[in-house]
This record gives sequence, C-alpha cells and structure tokens, in this order.
Amino acid sequence: MKAEIIAVGNEILQGFTLDTNSNFLAKRLTELSFSVEKITVIQDKRQDIIQALDSSIGHCDLILMTGGLGPTSDDITKEVLAEYFGGQLVENKDVLSDIEKLISSRNLLMNEKNQKQALVPDNCIVVRNKNGTAPAMIFNKNNTYLVSMPGVPFEMKEFFENDILLFIKENINLTPILVKVINVFGIAESVLAEKLTDFEKNLPENIVIAYLPAPEGIRLKLTGKGSNFDDLNTGLDKLAQNLKMIISDNFVGFDDDTIEIVPGKLLKEKKLTVSTAESCTGGLIAHKITSQSGSSEYFKGSIVSYSNEAKINILGVNPRTLEEFGAVSKQTVEEMATGAIRLFKTDYAVAVSGIAGPTGGTETKPVGTTWIAVASKNKVESFEFHFGKLRDINIRRAAANALFKLLNVVKSEIDRN
Ligand code: AMP
Ligand code: MG
Repeated sequence: MKAEIIAVGNEILQGFTLDTNSNFLAKRLTELSFSVEKITVIQDKRQDIIQALDSSIGHCDLILMTGGLGPTSDDITKEVLAEYFGGQLVENKDVLSDIEKLISSRNLLMNEKNQKQALVPDNCIVVRNKNGTAPAMIFNKNNTYLVSMPGVPFEMKEFFENDILLFIKENINLTPILVKVINVFGIAESVLAEKLTDFEKNLPENIVIAYLPAPEGIRLKLTGKGSNFDDLNTGLDKLAQNLKMIISDNFVGFDDDTIEIVPGKLLKEKKLTVSTAESCTGGLIAHKITSQSGSSEYFKGSIVSYSNEAKINILGVNPRTLEEFGAVSKQTVEEMATGAIRLFKTDYAVAVSGIAGPTGGTETKPVGTTWIAVASKNKVESFEFHFGKLRDINIRRAAANALFKLLNVVKSEIDRN
C-alpha cells in the first residue's frame, strides 16, 4: 500500500518550524507496512494545495496532511479541501459544542474565529478533536483516502494514534510488517557490508536489510513483510541470530539494546560497578550511563578532569607523566582510569582523553587523536583512536567507543573466570 504525506505551513518552508509531523507520520506509516512514496511541504496557498492534491490523489492509497487548520486567516486548508472535493462548509453541532467547552474551560469567550472552526465540509468524515479546536477530516476520491489533521504536533499525534489509525486498519488492507534491529559497533560500514555479502544474497524476498550508521554504531535493520505474523517472526529471529554469529565481536545487542544500554545491563546482572574519568567527553559517558533508570546500582561517579590540575589533584595522575607524554597519551589515560578506581572503589573505570578539535591538534597528535583506558582491579588496558575533525562527532564517538571497550573488557574477564 502506498502513502504520501503533505505538510502545509509557511513556517516550515521559512525554517521556523521543523517538520516533525512528517517524520513522525512517515515512521508510523512504514511500521504499518505502507510504502511512503513522497513527502511534500507546501505553503498555505490555495493554488499550491490544489497542485499537491492533483499530483497525489489517485496515485496512492492514503495521503496524510497536516497543518493549515487554525482559526486565523493564514490557515486555508479546510476551505480549499471543501472546494477541491466539491463540498460546502456547514456548521457541525458536535464540533461547535467541543469548541465551546474548550473555550469556556480556558475562561475565554467564543468569538467569530472560534465559531468558524465549527464549519466543516459536508462531504467528509469529521473526527472530533479532544485536545484542541480544529477537527480532523477524512475525504475519499479516486481510491485515495485523504486525512487532514491539525499541525500542532501533540494534537496530530493524538488523532493519528487513535481515530485515524483505527480508520486505516478498518479501511485499508495492510500486510503485517516486522522489524528486527541488530546493533553493531566497532566496524566500518563498508567492512560490515563486505562481511554480509553472502547473507544479503540469501535473504528471502520478503525481507530487506538496511544499514543505519551513527557515531554510536551501526543499526542493522531487518524489515520483513508477510501474511503470516508467526512465520515472519520466527524467520526474522533466525536471521538475526545468524547475523549475530557472523558479526561476532562487533555484536552489541538486539533492538533497543544499544551500546548505551548493554554495558550497564551486564554490570547490573553481574553485580559489578563502574566509574568514569573524562576529559574530552566532558561527562558524556557518565550521562549516557545515568540516562538508564537503575544505573545507581552499578555506576558510582565520574570525574570530569578537564584540566591537568584536576587530573593531578583529584585522580592522582603523576605530573611527570603529563609533562613527558602529554594529557592525550596512553600513560595519562591509564593513570586516570586507575585513579578513578582508587577514588570510587569500583570494579571497573573508564577514562578518556582526546583532542576533540577543531583547535588543539599538533603534527604528532592531530585533531581526533583519542586515548581510552579501561581499568579493572588488577589491570589496565588502553586503546588509541584517530577520529575525524568534527568536535561534536569526535566526542560522541569517544564516549561510544569507551562504552564498547568497557563492555569488551568486562565480557572477557567474565569469560575468563
Ligand atoms: P496549523 O494547523 O497550521 O495552525 O499549525 C499550528 C502549529 O503547529 C504551527 O504553528 C506549528 O508550530 C505547528 N506545526 C504545523 N505543521 C507542523 C509540522 N509539519 N511539523 C511540526 N510542527 C508543525
Ligand atoms: Mg499554519
């Protein structure tokens, strides 16, 4: 089934409003097994609305439209839709009573503009608004359903998740769709793709694979469509297990088990603790860990030791280490990690020191150079990385790699014992 999305609003085209509605709807439609073929953003202009409808009606099964339903003169979607589908605007008693209730609950008086919002085309299904004044409308022409919803994101979401979703399920024949995500870390996209050549070749026709790379790793997304939900589920699970074996050391977890979540889960399960000593990540690793509810069971604290003084005075890094090797070095980062273990009395500590950029690079240590250490009670290991030139991305990559190294060290110590 094909779907299209039309976002109406001058504010979007002017860059004042990010078109989050289309993004939300596209994701939900895809999850429902629609193929979203087009997203159009247009001005609040009669001619542009008509043009957009002309190019979409009859070409897809469903069009979701948002915006332009407010009470002010710049919002004209409803009038244009009535005209386009050959209807008249008539007062709807239910909508009027909804609006009156809302207005009086806000201690306001009904005015002409509110009254006007109770006018709806007489050739559509009217869906009442539980959170605002403008109703949603459903039209049909040339085998295409058109749903028009208000632009206010929370109103639109309420409409979609309740009445519109129900309408779609009752009126459009959808095939079950299932998604399984395999989170991968520490391997370049091209190398991963090479590894998966045979796997991809042997994929059944109803299952497609997508690579979604980010500084926090690659999300491998398997999407399957099929008429039998249970078969689909079993098939996808098998493929996911197969992928896990192929990816081996770079496998992090399934679905929501990303690199931000998995190390904490393991520590919690094994009743182990961790602390962090962070320079260039400025506490981002600690933030990622503590974003998980229940992290107090395994996370003890963090030192953001940005200056040399903090590294020396709080973490106990030897001043001579800093002088001889510099802040971004194997020696410093290892002393930071062992310092954190001493300070927080944890089973593990992660330390990071790097040159996030864009300034601060040298010939021998260019921007992106980063050292990460993971210390356990009797051992410390460190790793050198060379990231890119962009500060934000470098910081994110450093934090994610630190968590991945932590995960690997914990896993291998568990395996050994
Ligand atoms: P409207 O229905 O055109 O009166 O839209 C009301 C408000 O909803 C606008 O002022 C925007 O702040 C917001 N809005 C409209 N369209 C979108 C969209 N596509 N994505 C996110 N917000 C939107
Ligand atoms: Mg508008």
